[in-house]
Amino acid sequence: MELVIVARPSIDEHIKNIEKDIFDLKEYPIEKLCEIIREVGFECDLCTKCCTSEFNDHIFLLDQDLSRIRKLSADTVRPAPYFEFCDNNGIFYVSGYALQTKTDGSCIFLENGKCKVYEDRPLICRLYPYMLHREEDEFGKFDWRQISGLNEHGFYHAEITDEECKRIAALTKEYEIAYLTHKKYFLETIRKHFNEHRLKHVQSTYDRMIRKLNKGEKVKVMVFTNGKFEEQLFENTLHVL
Ligand code: SF4
Repeated sequence: MELVIVARPSIDEHIKNIEKDIFDLKEYPIEKLCEIIREVGFECDLCTKCCTSEFNDHIFLLDQDLSRIRKLSADTVRPAPYFEFCDNNGIFYVSGYALQTKTDGSCIFLENGKCKVYEDRPLICRLYPYMLHREEDEFGKFDWRQISGLNEHGFYHAEITDEECKRIAALTKEYEIAYLTHKKYFLETIRKHFNEHRLKHVQSTYDRMIRKLNKGEKVKVMVFTNGKFEEQLFENTLHVL
């Protein structure tokens, strides 16, 4: 997978946008999500599509996921795509880790169609395909997306009890708030780090370093986890889930 060059808003704008998303997410009526979960009646058919980068791009790990996964195996994570910033010294910054994948793009933990770490799998794997993302539709209108890959995998119209709908809806909301809060802390930490060390994001340096990475060179990446940055020397050799 080739890492791509992406444009981004300023850090302050980005933080403001995330704060608005967190506010709106908290206001999102849980009953509405329950109703959608009940109506869709999703049931996993063990197709394993959701465990591949082709279908889901990557599995982002929250801090609690990371410490659990690292206890199982140290070599199963890598800096998440897509690096958000690059400073004037050519060092990348990214908001966290993702699960590593095998060369065919399937999750490092997928074996014979089953999850090897089912009991310890990341939070997003426990909730999938439920989500609460604000996304643009085909007409450019932003709205909430609640189910990922609808009609592309799984069975539908299964009966899901009210109690189960409520449990899934509450967990989904909790996860999305935790994810956005993590992103917000990352941006606030970057802002502080750049100010303290007189650094700045330079788009032309970012583009140049991405080209180096895509040519197979190693780059330095600061990965945000547990409120601080971990330095990694990164080479883009494997696909990412
Ligand atoms: S951790 Fe398990 S459930 Fe999650 S993507 Fe990997 S194989 Fe699938």
